[in-house]
Amino acid sequence: MNNDCVFCKIVRREIPAAIVYEDDFVLAFLDIAPTAPGHTLVIPKVHHETFLGTPRNLMHNVVDVAQRIGQVQIKTLGAQGVNILINNYPPAGQSVPHFHIHVIPRYGKKDGFQLEMITHLDGKLNLPAVVEKIKSGL
Ligand code: AMP
Ligand code: ZN
Repeated sequence: MNNDCVFCKIVRREIPAAIVYEDDFVLAFLDIAPTAPGHTLVIPKVHHETFLGTPRNLMHNVVDVAQRIGQVQIKTLGAQGVNILINNYPPAGQSVPHFHIHVIPRYGKKDGFQLEMITHLDGKLNLPAVVEKIKSGL
């Protein structure tokens, strides 16, 4: 647990949150600044800064709940699609340093949520050296 972490404070019930799911390992609550109705955050209860540093044995608990929340957003909220988003470290847009999965219901392509992947290089960066570096690191 991290004393200053806002999500740890939610786990400890020191600040309020709209909690939609809880078990021994996982908590899910509505985002305070939702991109759409039902935008949910799924977190491990134990503090880990990022997805990248979270132990593998905890991952399936968190991912399982994120999957179920996404299914429910379609079934009961009438969402037509769901974006699953994980930001790791501030350069990638992470503002709360406690691993969380955004489960974002989508109500049509023009519902205001935008995530643009701009590719201009047409595969030109698929260099053998990059392939080798990734393969050798795994
Ligand atoms: P990220 O930018 O990926 O780190 O996402 C952090 C998310 O946490 C943002 O979408 C915030 O709106 C949300 N957030 C921050 N504080 C709270 C809070 N107290 N309760 C619920 N959501 C929060
Ligand atoms: Zn925390």
